[in-house]
Amino acid sequence: MTETTTCRQCGTCCRKGGPSLNREDLALVRQGHIHHDQLITIRQGEMGYNPATGRLEPVPVELLKIRGQGSGWACLFFAEANNGCTIYAHRPATCRILKCWQPESLLATIYQNTLRRADLINPNDPILAEIARHEQACPGKEFTGLLADTDRDSLARLTEMVRADLAIRGEVAQKVGISLEMEFFLFGRPLFKQLTGSGIECVAENGGIRLERKLPSPTSGRGE
Ligand code: SF4
Repeated sequence: MTETTTCRQCGTCCRKGGPSLNREDLALVRQGHIHHDQLITIRQGEMGYNPATGRLEPVPVELLKIRGQGSGWACLFFAEANNGCTIYAHRPATCRILKCWQPESLLATIYQNTLRRADLINPNDPILAEIARHEQACPGKEFTGLLADTDRDSLARLTEMVRADLAIRGEVAQKVGISLEMEFFLFGRPLFKQLTGSGIECVAENGGIRLERKLPSPTSGRGE
């Protein structure tokens, strides 16, 4: 079998998810090659895929990633028809560095020099105050910690955070008329969506929501 030494543009990396942006990519956004609503924020402390360990782990810094296509993982700019990148000449630094046959070069750069929301927003824009309010009401680190906690009080606090997350998104959407995609940039992934796989269910009730822990099925853990 011949050893891979150059990119064959097989598209495997692009199908696994869009890259995180770093400071080198600031110009790509400023020049309009990548738009704010094509990004999704992974807030500090929330769970994210760490390519160095191959696991989902709390991210130590805020990340801005290129969104996936629909509900899938493939990078928004990936063109399945020809395994191509629709912004190839202006692709982010991570995509230029990545050599799937030699991942060490990329792994050394993970969480280094990352771009944050504030880097892409005018310092006088009042939306920064809304982002700060959201961070204070539902910090990513606290949310992730509570997901693993089975205490009754933790469920109450989680409920409070999920409600605050929805309320702030709704208020800002009403006030400034942002799209759902822009909401993903401003506030990251909705907290109720991050409950998936945690054993906690978000139930709609009387025009609001409540959280409940799902009981393990009687057959779980028996290999049946
Ligand atoms: S920006 Fe282009 S090269 Fe980078 S992951 Fe997306 S499709 Fe692939």
